[in-house]
Amino acid sequence: MIIVMGKSVTQEHIDHVVEIIEKDGLEAHISKGSTNCIIGVIGDERKLDVDKINALDYVEKVMPVQKPYRRVSREVHPDNTVIDVKGVKFGGKDIVMIAGPCACESEEQMFEIAYALKKMGVRAFRASAYKPRTSPYAFQGMGVEGLKIIRKVGDETGLVVETEVMDTRDVETVAKYVDMIRIGARNTQNFDLLKEVGKVNKPVILKNGLSTTVDEWLFAAEYIMNEGNQDVILCERGIRTFEPLTRNTLNLSVIPLVKKLTHLPVIVDPCHAAGKREPIPYLAKASIAVGADGLLIEVHNDPENAMSDQAQQFTPKDFEVMYNDLKKVALAVGRKLV
Ligand code: PEP
Ligand code: MN
Repeated sequence: MIIVMGKSVTQEHIDHVVEIIEKDGLEAHISKGSTNCIIGVIGDERKLDVDKINALDYVEKVMPVQKPYRRVSREVHPDNTVIDVKGVKFGGKDIVMIAGPCACESEEQMFEIAYALKKMGVRAFRASAYKPRTSPYAFQGMGVEGLKIIRKVGDETGLVVETEVMDTRDVETVAKYVDMIRIGARNTQNFDLLKEVGKVNKPVILKNGLSTTVDEWLFAAEYIMNEGNQDVILCERGIRTFEPLTRNTLNLSVIPLVKKLTHLPVIVDPCHAAGKREPIPYLAKASIAVGADGLLIEVHNDPENAMSDQAQQFTPKDFEVMYNDLKKVALAVGRKLV
């Protein structure tokens, strides 16, 4: 870390900053010119109380050298983390397709979609039993009944199943029924929920929030990992911008950067970003091109009559066309879409 002192700095100020640095077990190197003074901090700067130094009136600027995250950072874990969910590997050479309906609506609907996907070779299945809806009058999900159906689908088809958890009180129950837990965009910074999923033994798909920065998203992952659960998969799902033509703006520009910052697998959900079918196949292709380790795509047997996200869900038939196309893109970048 480099600390740039203000122009009117005195020896007393410098001594005070050095004292703070040394109190935290680090070393201070002072470089003093005729007009400027900078203090270099040697050692693990994450131990240092940066806010305390930043708050000093005579400190002009604090420039960290190390990343502030301890567990998500590539600095502490240079190799890619590969998360194995019942043989489906996230973060390795394969790009994993997770497909399925927005919401679990009935056993019949779920099995129809799941078997259609399985026939195509898809290995991971999504469906929400708890739905975060803008309106309290909209379909809220089937709750525990839905979880039971999701588990039944997983058991009978052999697909890996995932679902969203929204409430700390449901974490244990959700973890009992599914193979992976999803944290949705509205809960990216629900720290109590993050800590709770950090205590269970199931991989977590962590979406970015509607307005979280990459830093905030990575710190959210850090919250989960701090509690013991190291199996976190990041999922980019778009951010809210001024553009009304799509529901959100898929932030693909950060994917290569996020992958450089962290060793965790990073997947992309182009559906909740776009909010409508038309751009999704293009966004999915682009996601593979920028290095995504997986995709999350909504598929419904009857999108027109779906209970949520009617405009963005694909019929199994249309999904299959896109899926086969995406496999070619994956091969072109030296990977395999499963
Ligand atoms: C979802 O994947 O079902 C969902 C609600 O997405 P998001 O949290 O990204 O809005
Ligand atoms: Mn949805």
